[in-house]
Amino acid sequence: MSKQALQQELLSVIQWFHAKGWAPATSANYSFRNPAPDQNTFTISRSGIDKGQFTVEDFMEVDANGQALEAFRSVKPSAETLIHSMLYEQAAVQAVLHTHSVVNTVYSWKHRAAACVNISGFELLKGIAGVSTHETTIQLPIYENSQDIAYLSAHIRESLHNYPGVPGLLLAGHGLYAWGSSIAEAKRHIEVFEFLLDCLNQLEGR
Ligand SMILES: [Zn+2]
Repeated sequence: MSKQALQQELLSVIQWFHAKGWAPATSANYSFRNPAPDQNTFTISRSGIDKGQFTVEDFMEVDANGQALEAFRSVKPSAETLIHSMLYEQAAVQAVLHTHSVVNTVYSWKHRAAACVNISGFELLKGIAGVSTHETTIQLPIYENSQDIAYLSAHIRESLHNYPGVPGLLLAGHGLYAWGSSIAEAKRHIEVFEFLLDCLNQLEGR
């Protein structure tokens, strides 16, 4: 798939997430791994753009360390670019998406003292790559939020291997990250986690 086609695909996802209320104002950020031979560089959303107004002009490209490529030096990448870079250290990750929904914010805040959320028994768990039955438990890690993104990404890198096969994480009171082997798979993972967190939140409120 060409870079242009991937940009169009991601743009549709950004608009859809914004319409769902999962990325209010300028929040949230999105990226994909550039196609070969540039697979060590990434296309990511620029900082500070209202996601309801986002166009393909608002994408930029960064290297594996999250630094803007030469042609994009005048543009500021998303503040959370280093989290994307850290996730792309896993070779299978092709897209990283991040949402700030009310549900993921509330639920991750309520459980900010926990290391992870245990999710089991729900049919929609099968929307996660590699999961074929609801009779399973997914542990979605929760990390304390920080404005020091270099620290935060290093901290996440240290422990993410404790959650093999779980394509997502929560930042407490902040939002959800999910990734996948394609933009479509990462989008599906965001939808699945948003849905499951909503279910858990509603069940706890009873
Ligand atoms: Zn964020």
